[in-house]
Amino acid sequence: MSHTLTSAYIGLGANLGDPQARLMWAMDQLAALPQCQPVARSGLYVSAPFEAVGPDFINAVLHLQTTLSAHELLLNLQHIELLAGRERPYRNAPRTLDLDLLLFGDQHIHTATLQVPHPRLWERAFVLLPLAEIAPQWVTADQLSAVAGQPVMRLEPR
Ligand code: ADP
Ligand code: MG
Repeated sequence: MSHTLTSAYIGLGANLGDPQARLMWAMDQLAALPQCQPVARSGLYVSAPFEAVGPDFINAVLHLQTTLSAHELLLNLQHIELLAGRERPYRNAPRTLDLDLLLFGDQHIHTATLQVPHPRLWERAFVLLPLAEIAPQWVTADQLSAVAGQPVMRLEPR
């Protein structure tokens, strides 16, 4: 199905295996999706697990332009998660790869399978910081202050 071109921001996270390599791999997979053009990649951010146990997380945000619908894009994200060997034993379990659709243009979507903007986007410094890096227009100073207490470190600082 063909749609208008929309800016999509995808949050990536991993904390098992080699999370850094996994995220680079996932960003390449996302950039190669049909009807998708990569626009920008944030740096990689490292944080201790939030409401979870296990090794440190690596997170990043990718900006794509796409003619897919939001639901079509979600199916592609879930396919890439499966390719990465994701299992979902319990909520917030350590994971090889988590791909969340954070923003889809200025659309508000509330269906059983998809909520956009992602409902927990503004609670998590490890999502908000990489998003602010590549989409400062979508993140306010107040939103950044609200998560300033959460320790997150950008790898390879510029
Ligand atoms: P979380 O990302 O909150 O840690 P999961 O990745 O396990 O949790 O949640 C996956 C479920 O969330 C999927 O079944 C999907 O349908 C649903 N979901 C709702 N909104 C979104 C979204 N914006 N991006 C990704 N998945 C979403
Ligand atoms: Mg998810």
